Amino acid sequence: MALPVFKTGVIRHPGQAGSIPVRLRHNLPYPGGAMTDPRRATPRVDAVLADPRLVAAAERLGPGLVRAAVARALDQVRSGRLPAEAAADVAVATLPASAAGLRRVLNATGVIVHTNLGRSALSPAAVAAVTDAAGYTDVEFDLSSGVRAKRGTEVLGALRAAVPGAEAVHVVNNNAAALALTVFALAAGREVVVSRGELIEIGDGFRIPELLTAAGAVLREVGTTNRTRLADYAEAIGPETALVMRLHPSNYRVSGFTAAPTLAELVSLDVPVVYDIGSGLLAPEPLLPDEPDAASALAAGAALVTASADKLLGGPQAGLIFGRTDLVTRMARHPLARALRVDKLTLAALEATVSGPLPPTTVSLRTPVAALRDRAQRLSAVLAEAGIDVEVVDTGSTVGGGGAPGVVLPSVGLSLPTGYAALLRQGDPPVVGRVSAGRCLLDLRTVPPQADEDLLTALLSAAKQH
Ligand SMILES: *Cc1c(COP(=O)(O)O)cnc(C)c1O
Repeated sequence: MALPVFKTGVIRHPGQAGSIPVRLRHNLPYPGGAMTDPRRATPRVDAVLADPRLVAAAERLGPGLVRAAVARALDQVRSGRLPAEAAADVAVATLPASAAGLRRVLNATGVIVHTNLGRSALSPAAVAAVTDAAGYTDVEFDLSSGVRAKRGTEVLGALRAAVPGAEAVHVVNNNAAALALTVFALAAGREVVVSRGELIEIGDGFRIPELLTAAGAVLREVGTTNRTRLADYAEAIGPETALVMRLHPSNYRVSGFTAAPTLAELVSLDVPVVYDIGSGLLAPEPLLPDEPDAASALAAGAALVTASADKLLGGPQAGLIFGRTDLVTRMARHPLARALRVDKLTLAALEATVSGPLPPTTVSLRTPVAALRDRAQRLSAVLAEAGIDVEVVDTGSTVGGGGAPGVVLPSVGLSLPTGYAALLRQGDPPVVGRVSAGRCLLDLRTVPPQADEDLLTALLSAAKQH
């Protein structure tokens, strides 16, 4: 390469690090049309990357994402949709906000524990704890003695304190992991007795009976879909029985001609009873009287209780195991416990959720309807002022796949023309509502009051496109 090489709008001199964009003679008509050939005017990627804004962005986001934004802008230049001079501006404007693709969204669906939107939102205290734990941290280190310490002692202590009657606690990656570890450690190759009325599928094809058998249990199904008696369990129990398992149907209800023994009756059978309560209430929640909780289940004699931490507890994804010390110890010492353990970020978020201020999930659940109405009226006044067709409507929120099937919590929302649903999903931040009876409904129970200004901004900007 002895000579300067002429290449699509850039002259690169040998031995020179950067590239010099050159202005080509754009306005020469080329044969057969008035257009210039945009491919000839396309700057080199490196030339655009030299823009100081993109250099700074590469520090923050990493070079890959910035290069991709430049490549997209240059594609537009090449196809004639963008003038070459605008490539850097467009690349800057289309940079992702962060290096991770997950985006913050406003949940205006009214479904408090919305699986597709990440179940629970962490409290600010939990977020702060995660940030602190993100660097080097004393997760397995005793700062006073300078030697190795047991992992997760603080969070286990906080959980034990929150659940009276829990002799021991163990935390794993999620509730599915808690159930798998239960079988690995306590019932591999042996029978687990379970009612046919509790053979549940949680969502996305995840079936708990299949999990239990995959982990090595032999399922001994008893009773029928709607009625199972204590005698059915008693007849099934034999030398091969390891556990009786009760599963809370967190996303449906069987009503009508039904029967099931109480937990205390099951406990009387003299086989350890594992109760998968699902949604993770540690103590009774008066607003959800039919939702089981860990403290009550242990008080009724369950040997073990398993639950998800990111449903009604309002914490990070984790599986909680409460119960008898001998059983929990066998689980915690099982070799596969290591494969299911949680990381320091989860430990930090979980402890701050249990010990800190109420998480957003609990706040959403308990917010009185009058407070929602006040916010709806304030928001709708601003929107109506801007000429938007908006109404304040009474609606109903649900807990979602996280528990309390069939419970509808009175709520208040904003009703807008349907076209807003798609516009709001594309907004910044994206707002996810629901479409009902030909209107886009934004339920305020699941929108924290601190996000009202963001919601308003998103609505006003959607209105411009509507
Ligand atoms: C949600 C749920 C599970 C699965 O919990 P993950 O934390 O999602 O793994 C298991 N059992 C019940 C009863 C549930 O509600």
